Amino acid sequence: MTTKQITPLTDSFGRVHDYLRISLTERCNLRCVYCMPEEGIVLRPKSHFMKTEEVLGLAKAFVNLGVKKIRLTGGEPLVRNDAKEIIEGLSKLNVSLAISTNGILVDKFLDTFKSCNLRSINISLDSLNEEKFNAVTRRNDFTKIRSNIDLLLNEGFHLKLNAVIMKGVNDHEILDFIEFTKDKNVHYRFIEFMPFNGNKWDWSKGLSFKEIMEKVENVYGDAVNKLKDDKNDTAKAFQITGYKGTFAVISSVTNPFCDTCNRLRLTADGKIKNCLFSQSETDLLTAFRAGEDITNLIRESVWHKKAVRGGMNTFEDLSNPELNQQNRNMISIGG
Ligand code: SAM
Ligand code: SF4
Repeated sequence: MTTKQITPLTDSFGRVHDYLRISLTERCNLRCVYCMPEEGIVLRPKSHFMKTEEVLGLAKAFVNLGVKKIRLTGGEPLVRNDAKEIIEGLSKLNVSLAISTNGILVDKFLDTFKSCNLRSINISLDSLNEEKFNAVTRRNDFTKIRSNIDLLLNEGFHLKLNAVIMKGVNDHEILDFIEFTKDKNVHYRFIEFMPFNGNKWDWSKGLSFKEIMEKVENVYGDAVNKLKDDKNDTAKAFQITGYKGTFAVISSVTNPFCDTCNRLRLTADGKIKNCLFSQSETDLLTAFRAGEDITNLIRESVWHKKAVRGGMNTFEDLSNPELNQQNRNMISIGG
């Protein structure tokens, strides 16, 4: 028997794409200030979005083209009524499964995660202080999320916590986040505040990789150890000597990591985005519904991926609202 040879999903710069992030919904049970526009977003009819079998069908097309890892995201992926069915369906494809969630509903999905071998979970935890966390998320779910984080740790999941670092909001908590890694097997990631449609981005509110590391090194000095990053890692990872957990900084604003990018995105309305910052998208769902072969649409989209941040090569480009506001809002991309 001969094995079918798959030509990898390669762009014009030779980057191979084998990681797909699928956004399951634009809805969310939180309203994080850096993600969801204050006025909310216009909710469209259900027919605009992928149904269960369409998520699975489109995912399969990507897997047939060499995708090896799928991460579910959103909005909040677990608010979809068919989230369990989708996870179960994806677990039958030959991929490594992961999810980014705000953690509120995690306890209800524990058995599904286990039975589907979904062991890698990212949860946003922008503050360890209840009042502050609830202010950032404009809701009151801190206690629930904290207890779900403990649940996942006790169950031995591979857990990453994400915090978007913002001046005057949580920058004074960086050392607390690091202390959180002292006796927990957790990876805390500090994300530079990125511009998306409607999030009132202003870099004076953000903290750079350099500023974050200065705060850490001033206190921990030689105890800060640089860890080896994997080839496609978006974060630079560190560990404090003797600490069980690790931490990292994702520096998409001041030091992008585009040269090793292997990521593609499928939005909840079935569009492929070849970059988090891409301004153009290709509609796969309409073609899929019409029974067309979407392989070439996917290959074309990947081939045309820009070298850096959807064409925003410099910090000045990224800061330019005429460019950065042409993208979607984050809640409808999925991070
Ligand atoms: N609801 C899930 C969650 O909160 O993790 C998944 C979707 S959320 C859009 C995915 C990630 O994007 C989160 O870690 C969030 O912190 C991050 N994110 C959202 N807006 C951002 C921004 N403006 N800059 C940097 N990261 C952002
Ligand atoms: Fe919802 Fe996640 Fe965006 Fe917060 S970051 S509003 S939890 S999608």
